[in-house]
Parts: sequence; C-alpha cells; structure tokens
Amino acid sequence: MSFKYFEDLWNMWYTELHNGTAGLTLKIKKVLYSGESPFQRIDVMETYEYGKMLVLYGSIMFTERDEFVYHEMISHVPLFVHPSPEEVLVIGGGDGGTIREVLRHREVRAVTMVEIDSQVVEVSKKFFPTMSVGFSDPRLRLLFKDGAEFVKEDQGSYDVILVDSADPVGPADILFREEFFRSAKERLKQGGIFVAQTESPFYHPDIVKNTYSVLKNLYKNVHMYLAWIPAYPSALWSFCFCSDELHPLRDFKEERVSGSGLEFKYYNPEVHRAAFALPNFVKKLI
Ligand code: SAM
Repeated sequence: MSFKYFEDLWNMWYTELHNGTAGLTLKIKKVLYSGESPFQRIDVMETYEYGKMLVLYGSIMFTERDEFVYHEMISHVPLFVHPSPEEVLVIGGGDGGTIREVLRHREVRAVTMVEIDSQVVEVSKKFFPTMSVGFSDPRLRLLFKDGAEFVKEDQGSYDVILVDSADPVGPADILFREEFFRSAKERLKQGGIFVAQTESPFYHPDIVKNTYSVLKNLYKNVHMYLAWIPAYPSALWSFCFCSDELHPLRDFKEERVSGSGLEFKYYNPEVHRAAFALPNFVKKLI
C-alpha cells in the first residue's frame, strides 16, 4: 500500500467551534508546541491548508496564510488617516504582526507594546520569524503588563492606539469594558485615533452592540470597518475607528499610500474606503 494511503488514514484535525454548534476544522500536519502560561494555553500547529497557526485558549489567533489581512487592516487604516503618527501604543498583539506593520511607517518614531503574556512573544519569536520581525526594532518599547492597568497608570500620550486583543474572555475580557476605553482615551493626544478589533458582527452581535454603544459615548467619530479573515469565526471581522477630530474617509489622503512606497497584500485605497461600507444587518447593530 502506498504512503499516500497511510497518510490519508492519519487524520488529526483541529476544530474551533462557535457556541459549540458551528465551526472551522483544519487537518493538522504536526503539533509544534503545546504549553500553559500563567494566563492561557498556548499551541502552535502546522496545518495543510493555512500553514502554521497560533492558538490561544483553544482559539485561532492567526494563521500564516491569512494573518496579513488582519494585521494590515488594524494598522494601515488609522496610520494613513493620522497626519503624523509618531507615537503609537499597541495593547495586546503578542504575536508581533501588528507592530510589524506599524513599524513599516517611516513617520512612526516610537511604539509602545503592552502584552500581558511574555510567553506568547517567546513562542512567536521561535515559531513565526516573519511575524516577530518587529521585536528587534529599536523604536519598540515592549512591556509585559495588563493593558487595562497600563492605560490607567501610564502618563504618556499617543497619536494612535491599537487594541489588538484576543476575544473578550479571560485576561482580554477587561479590554472590552467601558473603564478600559475611558482610560485609553486619556492616553490619546489631541487629534489622536483609537482602533480596536471588535469581533464578528455575524457571530457576536451582542459584543458588537455593547462595544459600539460605549465607544459612541466617548468619541465624536466612531466608525466600524470590516475585513474578510477566513480563519476567524464566520470570516466577517470588524474594527472600530474612533477619533474626536479625524474621520476615516474625509481625512484619508490616498496619495499618502502610494507616497509611502509600501506594498501590501490586502490593503489599498479602494479597500480602505470600501471597508467602511456596512451591510444593513451590521448597520442595525451600531
Ligand atoms: N489578532 C488576534 C485576534 O484578533 O484574536 C489577537 C492577537 S494577539 C495574539 C492577542 C493578545 O492579547 C494575546 O497575546 C494575549 O496574551 C493578549 N492579551 C489578552 N489580554 C490582555 C490584557 N489584558 N492586556 C494585554 N494583553 C492582553
């Protein structure tokens, strides 16, 4: 019998369920790492279809095949709207994908990243060299702390704040609360932009509704934008763009994108604009 026959017999699958009733399942080539930090279970698996992936508490954080969508959209939408994004704060983002994209902008002088779990950074450095390139950038200040504590205690102020958090469970739950959003706003400079990943409008309507009602009480301009992320639950994912002074479309100067000399796999000026066009069922949520 051919090896192919045995290979087909050798079935190992990773399944992520939504509500225990629907989900994504990926055939696994190999489990590369399994561990437990003080905050969460950490797994790294190699899949046939999506390359390697980081899984925290049993949920996919990113896969090599589609991570570019999320990390380009959380970073370049605000960074091409802010006229001079020199000081950036990233809450969460332990895999390094967001700071990798942020640090590509030559206007960025300093990035502070506040990640609660140092083991996520270590695992990313070991298994995902293309994700963790930003950790060696001299502009980075990396702190291992609770992001909610940091924004309360920090005296600094930032042009752009990005919340690249996990889902609102475990240590990340506090990053979806009003107290955190209020404290984070205290850290924003005049004319600053706050962006958070805000889950899936398709699978998490209640989280989306609650999050936007809080943010709309804090900022004058609050706009959801969407991206297609196949490895995330339902693949329809949202981000929230918040600012008192700046608007994501009115203040978007598309010539800055071509002028940056940067190349992207997903982001471009048309995608920037189209991402803010919302289906009716999503509009109703916010
Ligand atoms: N892009 C992924 C997503 O949308 O699900 C999330 C990326 S990243 C892996 C999420 C990070 O948030 C994790 O490294 C986790 O340790 C970190 N995190 C969770 N709660 C946190 C908190 N309270 N403060 C700082 N970082 C936190």
